[in-house]
Amino acid sequence: EKRDGDQPEFLQAVREVFSSLEPVVERHPEYEANGVLERLVEPERAVKFRVAWTDDQGHVQVNRGYRIQFNSAIGPYKGGLRFHPTVTESVIKFLGFEQILKNSLTGLPMGGAKGGSDFDPKGRSDAEVMRFCQAFMTELQRHIGQFTDVPAGDINVGSREIGYLFGQYKRMRDEYSGVLTGKDLTFGGSLARTEATGYGLCYYTQEALQTLRKDSFQGKTVVISGSGNVAIFAIEKAQQLGAKVVTASDSNGYVYDPNGIDLDVVKDIKLGHRGRIREYADCVDSAEYHEGCKGVWTVPCDIALPSATQNEIDEESAKTLVANGCTVVCEGSNMPSTPEAIQVYQDNKVLYGPAKAANAGGVAVSGLEMSQNSLRLQWTFDEVDQRLKDIMTGIFQKSYQASKEYGHEGDLMLGANVAGFTKVADAMVAQGIL
Ligand code: NDP
Repeated sequence: EKRDGDQPEFLQAVREVFSSLEPVVERHPEYEANGVLERLVEPERAVKFRVAWTDDQGHVQVNRGYRIQFNSAIGPYKGGLRFHPTVTESVIKFLGFEQILKNSLTGLPMGGAKGGSDFDPKGRSDAEVMRFCQAFMTELQRHIGQFTDVPAGDINVGSREIGYLFGQYKRMRDEYSGVLTGKDLTFGGSLARTEATGYGLCYYTQEALQTLRKDSFQGKTVVISGSGNVAIFAIEKAQQLGAKVVTASDSNGYVYDPNGIDLDVVKDIKLGHRGRIREYADCVDSAEYHEGCKGVWTVPCDIALPSATQNEIDEESAKTLVANGCTVVCEGSNMPSTPEAIQVYQDNKVLYGPAKAANAGGVAVSGLEMSQNSLRLQWTFDEVDQRLKDIMTGIFQKSYQASKEYGHEGDLMLGANVAGFTKVADAMVAQGIL
């Protein structure tokens, strides 16, 4: 706390994890003897760098870039890149820290990392985004590689950005390798990667509903926030599983459609021309648009799947959700619930699926993309989707088992923290003090 006192998001993430680990460390004195917890919270390496580029008017712009390589005990560093004006060292560190346990839960050999920049792509031309990506990769390339660190996308880093980043890496290193995931299908991408986080979130939620409540998505009303990569494919899968999804949002506001969101319209707005969600209400008569993204949590629902950004559900929003009948919250975005919101879920027996478990589908299929790149093969959509399903049900079951083993049956947050942690901790002990 003393060392990182100016990093609130990072401390929030660490506190949440450490609150679950006390009984584990008690049962495993070797973790304490080997300083596992102290080492876990200190990144193995953190780079911070200048990204200078020229805008369309010929003005020089300067942004700050980051890559934080947190832990490589169980595999090469792996985690996304985020381009957003709210990016700080604290945000990248909280995401990198969470990534260690998330990657471990997938069962695939991937360490934890995260990176990004405070660059804001909103309103920038394609040419500006390309020049920014090239400048960013010019520095990043010396820190990454297919066997050391394999970045992916995150907020505002989709297939366009990954393409520019990959092109610059290839040019500078004269090497065609799987150094990034989330690539287009024409140059080494995996089928089902785009869908993976949203679909995976629904597979996880479905498994939790089935095991804990003998229930399913069928006939449920669902509130989803965001309208980006995660939200769009969470809407799609929830609808396929028989739910009615009634909202979508962005950082300006949300739409409520009592007839159920027409996903083709959302895709057309967001994927077709990078538009704003308010346009949905112009296209669909039954829909209402409301300014302010927080209002989305006032819409009554059975299940909430937050899929926009961190700390989007505070105590007040959590209480409103519960008062309106919501009994399930599974997280598509990273750390969307404040600690006070989580307390509200726990006090009200909400089925709570924490991000590091519920949204691990994206990185899981990224791991499968790495496997396909190494094999020089491409699996079919159905093959990847089936593996994703198996991984997500496996993550739920591992978390549930761990919650039982440590006397907190059904506490999926504790279960995910414990199950993710023990694999990494055992590897750290086995590899000596590093
Ligand atoms: P996108 O950039 O595709 O979409 C982000 C969405 O969230 C947009 O609708 C955006 O609205 C909204 N949003 C972003 N910042 C804010 C904010 N400060 N307040 C309110 N709304 C905001 O990103 P993704 O869908 O990929 O990521 C969403 C979340 O899921 C993030 O937390 C990310 O870390 C997490 N995640 C993503 C994975 C992936 O595979 N993509 C994997 C695992 C987790 P606007 O357009 O107005 O900015």
